Amino acid sequence: MSDQLKNAIRDVPDFPIKGILFKDITPILQDPKLFRLAVDTLADRHAGKNLKAVVGIDARGFIFAGAVAYKLGIGFIPVRKKGKLPWKTVVTSYTLEYGSETSEMHIDALAKGDNVVIVDDLLATGGTAMAAATLVNNLGGKIVEIDFLIELAFLKGRERLKDYPVFSALAY
Ligand code: AMP
Repeated sequence: MSDQLKNAIRDVPDFPIKGILFKDITPILQDPKLFRLAVDTLADRHAGKNLKAVVGIDARGFIFAGAVAYKLGIGFIPVRKKGKLPWKTVVTSYTLEYGSETSEMHIDALAKGDNVVIVDDLLATGGTAMAAATLVNNLGGKIVEIDFLIELAFLKGRERLKDYPVFSALAY
């Protein structure tokens, strides 16, 4: 089952910069059966849980997180890169392999004690997901799990996220 998803992922060397092997998920999105399989794999594990929303990470995370929220019948909360959200936000900055990035979430996206899952397409070093977790924590939300379609296990992002349950559908 996960072999089908793995076989569809396209490895693109040296994108967006030299030395990065980019995991291109667009062939999964193009295939309705595989897209559904990917969404179901991320969503079905949370069926029946008392979740308020799925927190999706800008930008490829939105593709899966929105569908997971729809399937679970719960809300969707976007975490966006700086300057994109129109209302008042909570903000956090984090370092990437090259440079730094700032993420934002609307201050009224969550109420204290709301249970959420965070969803992104891929776990690399964990910095991006950690920033989303920080924003959820700032608003008093409870992180039930952080979910990824793909995990690059050799980058040890899971260690950075050790305070939270982490699930990935496919590991490399
Ligand atoms: P990180 O913060 O290092 O865990 O990086 C994760 C974020 O960067 C995710 O939102 C991914 O979409 C993107 N990303 C990092 N490395 C790759 C890769 N090799 N292929 C595709 N996307 C990647």
